[in-house]
Amino acid sequence: MDLKDLIPIPDLLEAKDVLVIFPHPDDAELTAGGTVALLTAKGARVSYCSATDGSMGCFDPAMTREKVAAIRREEQVKAAETLGVKDIHWLGFTDGFLPDIETVRRKIVAVIRKVKPDFIITLDPWLTYEAHPDHRKTAMAAVEAAMYAPFPLAYPEDIREGQEPHAVSGIAFAVSSHPNTVVDITETWERKIAACLCHKSQFPEHVWNSVYAPVLMAKSREIGQRIGAAFGEDFKVMTMSHLHIFADAWRV
Ligand SMILES: [Zn+2]
Repeated sequence: MDLKDLIPIPDLLEAKDVLVIFPHPDDAELTAGGTVALLTAKGARVSYCSATDGSMGCFDPAMTREKVAAIRREEQVKAAETLGVKDIHWLGFTDGFLPDIETVRRKIVAVIRKVKPDFIITLDPWLTYEAHPDHRKTAMAAVEAAMYAPFPLAYPEDIREGQEPHAVSGIAFAVSSHPNTVVDITETWERKIAACLCHKSQFPEHVWNSVYAPVLMAKSREIGQRIGAAFGEDFKVMTMSHLHIFADAWRV
């Protein structure tokens, strides 16, 4: 019997309170921006959590990390607003140099216990051929944090300082090799692009038009085609119950 028949897959678009956890400013828009816009349009509260300050995202040796971080913070706020997101939690780690997963996990547990989302969107930590350590670590720390956040004896000193245990009902992994959900983002496609373009420092017009736009459009069309939509974003949606001791979880 299929694991998904034993433990049902929750509906991401029914989420009322969503926390999007991502490594760098721009990752949320590129990978899930259309879905975020759909959720906020449906009245869901969506909050962001950026693990790093984005301060490595620059090819100009004359720039400083402080300047780059300030630019990217402003760009991220605008991009979030474009999608209807007002609440951004910055973990403040240095772009490119996230510490060990345990350290990041504790900070994310604190954000989960504060925001109390019913759904988390993050990247797939088991994505093969993902070379960026910030992406691998943030995604793994996020799923581990979702697992630990309900336990009062996980980080009990934080509980004593006022945190409350919190369990999420679903987690959606963007950029997954094993997606099980396609979201039709046709109606929010333009807003997704507008939000991506808020990250001007990362996507100067000529770079956007020659590299990112054609690739994003082709991939989004390809994903959308699976459900007969013009544009789509896909996710691996699971519950925390799927994510422990099941050999066939990848097939869910
Ligand atoms: Zn990134």
